[in-house]
Amino acid sequence: MTILNVYRSKSALVYTLIFIKRHLITFRKFRQLYTEFWFPSPSRPPYNHICQIGDPVLRYKAEELNAEDIKKNEIQGLLKKMRSVMHSYGSFGLAAPQVGVPLSIFIVEFSEKIYEEFSPEIRKSREMAIIPFKVFINPELKITNYEKVCFPEACESVRGFSADVPRYREVLVTGLSAEGKPVSWQVSGWAARIVQHEMDHLSGRLYTDIMVRSTFTCTCWDKVNRTGGRIYVPFSPK
Ligand SMILES: [Zn+2]
Repeated sequence: MTILNVYRSKSALVYTLIFIKRHLITFRKFRQLYTEFWFPSPSRPPYNHICQIGDPVLRYKAEELNAEDIKKNEIQGLLKKMRSVMHSYGSFGLAAPQVGVPLSIFIVEFSEKIYEEFSPEIRKSREMAIIPFKVFINPELKITNYEKVCFPEACESVRGFSADVPRYREVLVTGLSAEGKPVSWQVSGWAARIVQHEMDHLSGRLYTDIMVRSTFTCTCWDKVNRTGGRIYVPFSPK
């Protein structure tokens, strides 16, 4: 082997290594881009979507907040996100665990638009009324009327289903507002149902735990028949 041959073989080796390294990086980059495109990284809580039954976050007991933390950007941002998610789903109540944050917060708003979607008969029987936007932080519930009423109820965390659920007729909820001020709300009928539903979320309970099981219904069962089963339930806003 001459010196030139040694030099050539060394160069060949170096160039081969550079070639492999360069293409290995290219391949890794390609694989990364491919993976990111087809399997995007999950977003982090608070989500823009609502977590579904089976997600462990829906089964935790929500943590209470320190009152002095309420004005912090993180919590104010969470409240803003919760309100926007609730609106995007056309929902009228949302608890923080539903957007992946196990903190003791719920919001409620039964707007005129949603109110109008129910027939006058249903509005009357379920004692519905328009509810302006409300925030409850570290809420506590007191039952003020032990009479129970049973009506259909649904939850965005059990998307596509509903069931009859017995609830207390009247309750008092106390807690802190978005500004950290003490608030209390004495409610009956539909509002009391919403409050109990959201309070259950903060204890890691879902309506399926207490529903009248024989009434558990797929909300689009008839459409399934009409479309020959060609229908799907989206797990994101319409
Ligand atoms: Zn719910």
